[in-house]
Amino acid sequence: MSIVIIWFRRDLRLNDNVALFHAMADGREVLPVFIFDTEILQKLQSRSDARVEFISQALNALNERLKRRGSSLLIKHGSPEKVWQELIQSYQIGTVYANHDYEPYALKRDEKVGKLLASHDIPFHTFKDQVIFEKEEITKENGTPYTVFTPYSHKWKSRLAEASVKMLPEHNKGNWCQQNACIPSLEEIGFRQGGVKFPASAVQEDILTRYAEQRDFPALHGTSQLGIHLRFGTISIRQLLLKAAQFSPSFVNELIWRDFYQMILWHYPHVISSAFKPAYDRILWINNEADFERWKAGETGYPLVDAGMRQLAATGWMHNRVRMVVASFLTKHLLIDWRWGETWFAEKLLDFELASNNGGWQWAAGCGCDAAPYFRVFNPQLQQEKFDPKHEYILKWIPEYGLPGYPKPMVNHEMARARAISVYRNTLNRPV
Ligand SMILES: Cc1cc2nc3c(=O)[nH]c(=O)nc-3n(C[C@H](O)[C@H](O)[C@H](O)COP(=O)(O)OP(=O)(O)OC[C@H]3O[C@@H](n4cnc5c(N)ncnc54)[C@H](O)[C@@H]3O)c2cc1C
Repeated sequence: MSIVIIWFRRDLRLNDNVALFHAMADGREVLPVFIFDTEILQKLQSRSDARVEFISQALNALNERLKRRGSSLLIKHGSPEKVWQELIQSYQIGTVYANHDYEPYALKRDEKVGKLLASHDIPFHTFKDQVIFEKEEITKENGTPYTVFTPYSHKWKSRLAEASVKMLPEHNKGNWCQQNACIPSLEEIGFRQGGVKFPASAVQEDILTRYAEQRDFPALHGTSQLGIHLRFGTISIRQLLLKAAQFSPSFVNELIWRDFYQMILWHYPHVISSAFKPAYDRILWINNEADFERWKAGETGYPLVDAGMRQLAATGWMHNRVRMVVASFLTKHLLIDWRWGETWFAEKLLDFELASNNGGWQWAAGCGCDAAPYFRVFNPQLQQEKFDPKHEYILKWIPEYGLPGYPKPMVNHEMARARAISVYRNTLNRPV
């Protein structure tokens, strides 16, 4: 008898998992597989990368649930193509089920694995799972993709009303492969614990209820911190949306931004290395490395920027309002290429998501699909007065704030603002 495989990737849960639902419905025994992909792991800068630790914890939790069903997760470590060659040798695989992943690396990986499976006559079925709407589901009337958020969000909401999103029931058929595989430790895959505390996966109703009033104030616990769970699928986007829709339209709006950036990445993969608007690739960045180091260390002398950068270094998370301010500061005040900041965030953020990070950076730098216009330069001092008026957030992350040890602003705001506008304007006016 052949078996079917559910290949977990960024959907590390048993409930409301579309590919798993279809694998269970298939009727044959289901083997759950996860691959620690060496092509991704080798590129990580730190051997104590907290995202790997998070995945390891999530896999252990998943395995505990599988054990109660008499099964366990088969975890492999290697390049996906090689692992699949081994699996094809070891098992009589009838069909492979997985959920869509829209990142360019994942698309290439799935194409290669799909070809390999096809060469052995094994169907590879993939499904939409990690977003509400994907690819071409939300387009303009003429079928082309939206590149501006507001009309996209209107269409998204009207489609949602028609689509009747719901959660899938969990199959209780018990057709899991009965096995007792060992889960490799972090050390066995070349990593170690970093001691980071991960946010809980529970969706807190009080946060949703007060989200619209509190979400912009970094001193408050006013946002969900669910990004890492959405990233690795330890919560279901449908479950979150259905809950959010009861309490907070403004939270739903943020989930639409998430879909929007995934859609942009899918249609315009050039954004990974270039500006969405090509003219902005001609900006003559200053790219001063010493300035970049001060920004990373949270020693710019602008307290909101510094508090944010220190929060990121200490916790792997930064408040959205502050992400916008630090990104604007790097690209506009220091005229450092947005890709430098994007790479630093990618290394540090627990909730790093290629599409949203790229979209957020291009927005802040003014070169994105739905960008803040280049002449809008955040004033970090005014942002702080508005969103941290009592200095609570700043004092939490900068104990020496107001003392002689705290640096003076590394650049004058008015000068930097005028310089950025002039560099951007000259670039855009320069003939190609
Ligand atoms: C420069 C910059 C870089 C960013 N990098 C990332 C990133 O790597 N990964 C990431 O998930 N978000 C990123 N964002 C968007 C946003 O800052 C984070 O999603 C949010 O701060 C995460 O905190 P939270 O989970 O408490 O969000 P909440 O406010 O509780 O929102 C709930 C969820 O909605 C989604 N969301 C919220 N705001 C946005 C947004 N503007 N764009 C896309 N999705 C959003 C996230 O999945 C988030 O977890 C970035 C924003 C900027 C300005």
